[in-house]
Amino acid sequence: MTKKKSKVLLIYTGGTIGMMQDARSGELKPFDFKSLKEQIPELNKFEIELSSISFKEPIDSSNMHPKVWSELVILIQKNYTKVDGFVILHGSDTMSFTASALSFMLENLAKPVILTGSQLPIGMIRTDGKENLITAIEIAGAKQKNGKPIVNEVCIYFEYKLYRGNRTFKYNSQHFDAFKSPNYPTLAEAGVDIKYNTVAFLKQNKKSLKVYSILDNDIAVLKLFPGISKKITSAIINTQGIKAIVLETFGAGNATTQNWFIDELKNAIDKNIIVLNITQCAEGKVIQGMYQTSSALKKIGVIGGADLTFESAITKLMFLLGQNLSHSQIKKQLQINLRGELTR
Ligand code: ASP
Repeated sequence: MTKKKSKVLLIYTGGTIGMMQDARSGELKPFDFKSLKEQIPELNKFEIELSSISFKEPIDSSNMHPKVWSELVILIQKNYTKVDGFVILHGSDTMSFTASALSFMLENLAKPVILTGSQLPIGMIRTDGKENLITAIEIAGAKQKNGKPIVNEVCIYFEYKLYRGNRTFKYNSQHFDAFKSPNYPTLAEAGVDIKYNTVAFLKQNKKSLKVYSILDNDIAVLKLFPGISKKITSAIINTQGIKAIVLETFGAGNATTQNWFIDELKNAIDKNIIVLNITQCAEGKVIQGMYQTSSALKKIGVIGGADLTFESAITKLMFLLGQNLSHSQIKKQLQINLRGELTR
């Protein structure tokens, strides 16, 4: 019996990976994705059936927007039963935001959605894009003996490592090894073989895929620094129309205990604005009440965000605010591990 070929859909959104040098002008420009196999002849050797969709106007990921995330999940939904896995080519700058957002928007995902990109365009001799793309496709098409996909979550594959997307952030703008996941282990490492760390995977779920395409971006961010003024703090907290504030605190979730600061936050919480406390540290988590400098936050109703990354905090809020949930449901869900994004 011949083994059925895996099918992978490649979605090109933009970013450095899909650019090549124009022969005449020398400028970097997006290449025509129809000629993908000409660019990377290695793709012909795959035992994988590859199809591709390219954004009409590929974007630098600094122009990424929640509307595009909605388009992406709808595209995934449309093709979900047709393919075994997805690879999304994306600029690295905001890749962790997109991966985090998609993880929330795709509930009960049973197939791999692998985001990848590169630091150097695919047409350059030293590009990191070829390896990233080829291995991402291999992972997206990889199946267990029972025919089910090996990976069933939204991941980032970059420089030989597969990460849970909503645990990552971009930490280096120059190195090929551009992402970190300090609070969660890598899901796979690619060497001679691809070694999957299956114990770290999300538990398989038999429910069918549920897609959420509505997000709400009425969120403000308040990053603390020693000496932050009442004027600035108040301007951010009292921004018209905001529904939530991501409060970026020190260490294990600590903040100044000055009365004016606590009063401003309390006023916001009394007006049903959600305040979510995450740490400025790349590793570790918020434990409100551990220090005196976080006890007041806990008392007035600030939500402790545990070890959520900034990217996950923002996109989880957009996702929860986008549904018709009550204020108390949103607060509860923020503290629950929905897609492997936090450790309590
Ligand atoms: N500025 C680019 C982007 O994020 C960088 C990259 O592709 O890695 O779209």
